[in-house]
Amino acid sequence: MHALPEFTLQRPGTLAEAAALLAAEPGARLVAGGTDLLPNLRRGLERPRMLLDLSGLAGFDAVDDETDGGATLGAGLTLAAIAADATLAARWPALAEAALAAAAPGHRSAATLGGNLCQDTRCVFYNQSEWWRASNDYCLKRGGTVCHVAPTGERCHAAFSGDLAPVLLALGAQVELQSARGQRWLPLAQLYRDDGAAHLTLAPDELLSRVRLPAPRAGAVCGYRKARVRGAIDFPLAAVAVALALEGGRIASLAIALSGTNSHPLLLAGTHELAGLPVDDALVARVGKLVAQQVSPMRSTATPSNYRRQVATALVQRLLRELAVG
Ligand SMILES: Cc1cc2nc3c(=O)[nH]c(=O)nc-3n(C[C@H](O)[C@H](O)[C@H](O)COP(=O)(O)OP(=O)(O)OC[C@H]3O[C@@H](n4cnc5c(N)ncnc54)[C@H](O)[C@@H]3O)c2cc1C
Ligand code: SF4
Repeated sequence: MHALPEFTLQRPGTLAEAAALLAAEPGARLVAGGTDLLPNLRRGLERPRMLLDLSGLAGFDAVDDETDGGATLGAGLTLAAIAADATLAARWPALAEAALAAAAPGHRSAATLGGNLCQDTRCVFYNQSEWWRASNDYCLKRGGTVCHVAPTGERCHAAFSGDLAPVLLALGAQVELQSARGQRWLPLAQLYRDDGAAHLTLAPDELLSRVRLPAPRAGAVCGYRKARVRGAIDFPLAAVAVALALEGGRIASLAIALSGTNSHPLLLAGTHELAGLPVDDALVARVGKLVAQQVSPMRSTATPSNYRRQVATALVQRLLRELAVG
C-alpha cells in the first residue's frame, strides 16, 4: 500500500449539488464510507483528480416506510445501521444477516449500502500493490494486455463479491439513480453487466441515491448464507440468498441470487418454472443443476473455481431445504 495520490476533495451537502459536481467533473470518483475505494487508491489502481465525498449529503441515510409495507432506504445508510434497525430486520431478516456478514465491525460503521452495491469487482491479480502488478505486466483490467485468469480471452472475469446484492435481488429491490439530468428507477439486476472491468451500468454522471424494497409477500421467507475463508472478516467465496413462498406445500414463488461467483451478482434464471412443485429431493437436485450451470467462478481467488461452484450449489440447496421446512 502507498500513500493516497493527490486529489481535490469536494463535500456536497445535497444530492443535487453532488449530481451537479459530478456532471461538471466526469472523472470524479464518489466516496461514501471509503472502505472499498480508499484501499484501491492506495494500491494505485486509480488516480482520480477529484473525490466527491457523499458522507455529508442531507437525508442520504433516511429510511422511509411506504404505506404498502415496503421501504425506501437511502444509499448512505451504513451496514451497521441496517443491521441494527429492528424494524427493517423484522420485515427482511436476511438483509440484516447480509449486512452483519460483510467485513468487520469497524468497516461496517462506515461502509454504506450504495458503496456495497457499487463496490469494485475483485481478483487476486488485481487487488495487489502497484509494484506487484508491475512485476506481472499488469493485466487486462488495468494497464496490461492479458488476463492472467483466462489468457486466451478478451474480457475480465474479476468477481463481484458484495454481500447485500444477493438478498436485495432475491427480494426484488429497485434502485434509484440520480444525475443532473434527473432520476430514474430500475430493477437492481439492471445495475450490473457481466464484465469484470466495467460491471456497473451507471452513466459517468450518475450516482445511486436510494433502494426500494417491495413489501414482503405474505408467508414468504428469505435467507442468506455465505462461505468465506476467514469467518471473522472476509469477502464471500460464494454467497447465496433464497426467497421462497409456499402455498399448500408447493412453491408459489422462488427467487435465488448469488455473489462471489460471477462478475455481477447473479439472479438465477429458470426458478419461475418451478412454481407449483413441492420442495423435495428432485426439486432440490433440479435447483442445484441450475446453480451449477449458471455460476461461472474463475481462478480469480486463491480458492479453486470448482470448489466455489460446488459450495455455491450446496449453500443454495441447504438453504432452500431449511426455508421449506420453516
Ligand atoms: C478488509 C476488508 C474486508 C471487506 N469485506 C467485505 C465483505 O465481506 N463483504 C462485502 O460486501 N464487502 C467487503 N468489503 C468491501 C467494503 O467494505 C464494502 O463493500 C462496503 O460496503 C463498501 O461501502 P463504502 O461506503 O465504504 O464504499 P466506498 O469505498 O465509499 O465506495 C465503493 C465504490 O462504490 C462507489 N460508490 C459509493 N457510493 C456510491 C453511490 N451512492 N452511487 C454510486 N457509486 C457509489 C465508489 O465510487 C466506489 O467505486 C471489505 C473491505 C475491506 C477493506
Ligand atoms: S480477471 Fe483477468 S483481467 Fe480481470 S482483474 Fe483478474 S487478471 Fe485482471
